Amino acid sequence: EREELAKLVNDESVSKDGVHIELAANIGTPNDLEGVKNNGAEGIGLYRTEFLYMGRDNMPSEEEQFEAYSKVLKEMNGKRVVVRTLDIGGDKELSYLNLPKEMNPFLGYRAIRLCLDQQDIFRTQLRALLRASEHGRLNIMFPMIATIQEFRDAKAILLEEKEKLVSEGVKVDDDIEVGIMVEIPATAALADIFAKEVDFFSIGTNDLIQYTMAADRMSERVSYLYQPYNPAILRLVKQVIEASHKEGKWTGMCGEMAGDSTAIPLLLGLGLDEFSMSATSILKARKQIKQLDQKEMQELAGRAINCATSEEVIELVNHI
Ligand code: PEP
Ligand code: MG
Repeated sequence: EREELAKLVNDESVSKDGVHIELAANIGTPNDLEGVKNNGAEGIGLYRTEFLYMGRDNMPSEEEQFEAYSKVLKEMNGKRVVVRTLDIGGDKELSYLNLPKEMNPFLGYRAIRLCLDQQDIFRTQLRALLRASEHGRLNIMFPMIATIQEFRDAKAILLEEKEKLVSEGVKVDDDIEVGIMVEIPATAALADIFAKEVDFFSIGTNDLIQYTMAADRMSERVSYLYQPYNPAILRLVKQVIEASHKEGKWTGMCGEMAGDSTAIPLLLGLGLDEFSMSATSILKARKQIKQLDQKEMQELAGRAINCATSEEVIELVNHI
């Protein structure tokens, strides 16, 4: 089977009835690039930059970050690279940051909340990204956005740093797309409003499911509530995709759900534009997409969002 899949490495990801989607990879460090190429990824849908900051006792310098981002952009050779700004806090700690101990770290001081508060950290990362942008096709994505104000503030800081660099004579790409992760239900609820201001969405289902179901993604005991196929989740996903398309924007997904073979038919039917997953899942997903008819999956998804339970949705998918 491995050999059969390997033949798909240079194929396009297109459904039986001719609908193109993008299959992208999630990466944590530039070391993951080999897997990305070997598995025929059409881009990088999520570069989790926090790994640059972890497992050490000081902040990575602007130069160090510039090197890492430039390397990824160069090696991807003009293919889209979505870099997520620092998503620390929650389950990921940094010893040198002295983060407060909180009762509910997943609901606390993390990601964009921390970056908007400790702007020196954020600005250093943004400068490194902006400087690297001339080496490829960079998209910048903010994590854990809960309000439109957070997005506006983050984008304003990005533009400030860009202007500073340009006035210093540094070359910065003018076509950087700036988007957000949709992983908080409030943001999914206001997707139509966000869609007017962002360039793209990427749905982070690992967190979106945890926050929608109010079930800690690290807790075994409530893991039965981690339900990607719950119609409540599917409705949120649908709403986000439709809102983006109305404004001529695109929606990707970079949570685990994007590479899940039961979810893929539903997501194709809901109109998801980009699926980002671990590189090792890409060829299998491509094979599956090529066997699916998008029109039929639209119908399937339409029925799925009116189901009462995950089990009913799984039943539907199993009968394709
Ligand atoms: C997500 O929340 O779905 C996601 C992709 O981000 P992370 O798993 O890094 O929180
Ligand atoms: Mg997340």
